[in-house]
Amino acid sequence: MKSIAPGVIGLLSLLSSMTAQGEEKPNILFIVADDLGYADVGFHGSKEIPTPNLDKLAAAGVIFTDGYVSAPYCSPSRAGLLTGRYQNRFGYEFNPKGNAGLPLAERTLADRLKAAGYVTGLVGKWHLGQLPEQHPQRRGFDEFFGFLGGARSYVKSEGVFRGNEPAGHIDYTTDAFGREAVDFINRHAAAPWFLYLAFNAVHTPMQATDDRLAKFPDITGRRKIYAAMTLALDDAVGRVMQALEAKGLSDKTLIAFISDNGGPTMEGVTVNASLNAPLRGSKRTTLEGGIRVPFVLSWPGHLQPGIYKKPVISLDLNATALAAAGVALPGQDQRDGVDLLPYLQETTKSLPHETLYWRFGQQMAIRDGDYKLVRYDPVADGQKKQDTDLTPRLYHLTDDIGESKDLAAAMPDKVKELQARWDAWNATLIAPRNGKASASDNEEEDAGSRKKKNRGD
Ligand code: CA
Repeated sequence: MKSIAPGVIGLLSLLSSMTAQGEEKPNILFIVADDLGYADVGFHGSKEIPTPNLDKLAAAGVIFTDGYVSAPYCSPSRAGLLTGRYQNRFGYEFNPKGNAGLPLAERTLADRLKAAGYVTGLVGKWHLGQLPEQHPQRRGFDEFFGFLGGARSYVKSEGVFRGNEPAGHIDYTTDAFGREAVDFINRHAAAPWFLYLAFNAVHTPMQATDDRLAKFPDITGRRKIYAAMTLALDDAVGRVMQALEAKGLSDKTLIAFISDNGGPTMEGVTVNASLNAPLRGSKRTTLEGGIRVPFVLSWPGHLQPGIYKKPVISLDLNATALAAAGVALPGQDQRDGVDLLPYLQETTKSLPHETLYWRFGQQMAIRDGDYKLVRYDPVADGQKKQDTDLTPRLYHLTDDIGESKDLAAAMPDKVKELQARWDAWNATLIAPRNGKASASDNEEEDAGSRKKKNRGD
């Protein structure tokens, strides 16, 4: 084999850190919260629970008022985020049962960025399969520190892994994940990297540290613990932002922040005392409260800070990250997200999406401009399951963000039009392959409080 001179290696490594446009490849940081309510961040007006670090991130970036995820539930939402495709296209509609996981034919964002020369890491929650071949390090991540399941104790060490090995003593997972993220950034400061920082905060079980509980003397009960858990999440984000600053990476890092689904306010084991106001509905529903989430994109020096009010979806974050990294995909790779950068940099006046779609078992939704047609789980309104009424409702979201005034009877043609459009989209999907809709989230992966053996969650 012909030897390559060190100078050439240096040049090659420099070239691999550049995009096709000759710009330096940015680092990509996805921060995902779990079951965080739309109302429970300072940048959405929360006064009760301070989130100064998330607010700082939001103030330096773009806040999306109408930012959606592709599912109202943990695992399928993550499948959409990491593939950039409506997860229903590959049958990944629910949380995985048994040995189900993200289908191996799907390529993750980590796969693609790794192929483009990025160092890739997952810190936190995986929830896309627990078999060896479904392990994050087989799905594009060079490094993994976290847990494989859907939820877990914040204070037990068992089930937290570094790679395939037990991670050792954990004090509080949110703090540990923050520290690990900082360590990842410090170790890879010179390389372009992708870090998927997926907190289990603020999913149940309700567990917080005493020092943070003490900061909320005026809040009681479950909401007090939720506030302290949210504060821990914010603290961890703050440490990560400080690490970026200290390494001079703030302007070289594209950061996205979302919750994987809306706050769980509907009866079930994942109820965490979150609030989705002014949205109606909960995690597990296709009402806005299930699918519209806190949503921020920040890239100082490249994106003007501001508020963006047109609908976008988590799938776009995948496409945006690839575009920022200069990764072009073959045409046959069907994706549903779009690169948001031209819309945010105002180099195009059109909309990222005329229409967005959801399917979650018998529930559905389509958002088309200001209108939304939705079949949702009426349990969200406190009804009993046997009262199930899946009549489609029509709402004008711009006038009626709380989905309180059903326009279906008054606008039958609009109902027909949106139903036909959703039917056409639905015809491009396959049947769910990874489980079934659960009547309540009692069937969710686990809530960390029940005993599961050898699940790593
Ligand atoms: Ca979740």
